[in-house]
Amino acid sequence: MGGKRKKRTKIIKPKPKLPKTFECPRCGRISISVEIKDGLAKIRCGSCNLYAEVEVPPVYDEANAYGKFLDLYLDGKLQIKENPEDNSEGENETERESEELHQESN
Ligand SMILES: [Zn+2]
Repeated sequence: MGGKRKKRTKIIKPKPKLPKTFECPRCGRISISVEIKDGLAKIRCGSCNLYAEVEVPPVYDEANAYGKFLDLYLDGKLQIKENPEDNSEGENETERESEELHQESN
């Protein structure tokens, strides 16, 4: 039996820096993004606009922060806010109809 020596080539794949997304416990979609800054993890769901902030130790990465967020969320200990950046629409709608109604009922 003759054995052939196989050359083992080491393929080192550079880790792609993908935005890490996780499953949202509220809407169930994989659209949670985690951003850690100054020991504070900002958790945001791009689908249902869930938003929460969790304090994390400096060694935590996004996955750790998400785990902590999930624990707190499921325990009901987390204050959920809506996405504060959702500011696109609102007071631009004019209410002409109600204005006219007001004048007539005078
Ligand atoms: Zn969601």
